[in-house]
Amino acid sequence: MQVVETLSSKKIVILGTGGTIAGQSALRDDNINYLAAQVDISTLTASVQGLAAHVAGFDLVTEQVAQVDSKDMDEKVWCRLAQRTANALAQPDVHAVVITHGTDTIEETAFFLQSVLPANKPVVLTCAMRPSTALNPDGPQNLRDALSVAMDPHAEGVVVVCAGLVHTAQHVQKIHPYRLDAFSSGDAGPVGSVENARVRWTVLPLPCTPPAWQASGLSVDQPWPQVEIVLNHAGATGAVVQALMHAGVQGLVVAGTGNGTLSQPLTRALQLAMASGVQVLRSTRCAFGQVMAESDALIPVAQGLSPVKARVALQLSLLGLAAAKASNPKN
Ligand code: ASP
Repeated sequence: MQVVETLSSKKIVILGTGGTIAGQSALRDDNINYLAAQVDISTLTASVQGLAAHVAGFDLVTEQVAQVDSKDMDEKVWCRLAQRTANALAQPDVHAVVITHGTDTIEETAFFLQSVLPANKPVVLTCAMRPSTALNPDGPQNLRDALSVAMDPHAEGVVVVCAGLVHTAQHVQKIHPYRLDAFSSGDAGPVGSVENARVRWTVLPLPCTPPAWQASGLSVDQPWPQVEIVLNHAGATGAVVQALMHAGVQGLVVAGTGNGTLSQPLTRALQLAMASGVQVLRSTRCAFGQVMAESDALIPVAQGLSPVKARVALQLSLLGLAAAKASNPKN
């Protein structure tokens, strides 16, 4: 752990988890052939010019929680990250937590953290589309912007900051594999932007859903329920569902076409899965909008969650953290 001292009693904790923001490429003009998760968070933070002045009044404390390419993000890292974030948030002198993360699964991590952490202080995730060694890396600006949001008096709960925009954990989605502005909040839109270190909110107060669960109910060593995502598409047979049932899956999220529609064979396969005790949630493979349940819907819908976030919600539900929810009168 490293502390950048600015003679302040207030801290912002920066937790590193890897990603392209910590990536390195052999060639400075190559934004494709690089290794993510190479640079440690204290080096990364120290390399951003003028950061101490940018956060004047706050001490920055860095901690490496993981060092992964976020395509390989998993539940063990999530648990450790939730616990380290909850621990930091519980310190009276910690004002906010900033998390550096890969872009590939930042939306799931943000949603997971929102589901298990108290929303009383800002938790700001940020990332980059270019490695730290690029000719024009976007990570330093994104980190500065994330800190601007973390220091802003109106910020609270879990948000994602990238390319000058602030997205909620509920709506953020990676929609482009290369562009610096790779994220969208769909129909909801971003809740703010960061312009020359000033945060301009377009939505206030931030729509903070109270956490459904508690980080303290999670253990790094516990096995998580196996929940897989299947897709409806032209010619979908349902064979994937049968194979997953043989593999012992406990939950399935189905990304339906359009308004969550499913082919007849896939519907039959999922109904058989439900009859044998597998929990199923229905989302849509559409990038925008959400499934509106039909009056005769047989497969429950995922309440506006994208397939990857519905999977997190179903995992937490299967983990049986409902007891923690009941014991927290605020929820
Ligand atoms: N594969 C990288 C990751 O998600 C991509 C990125 O960070 O942009 O860690």
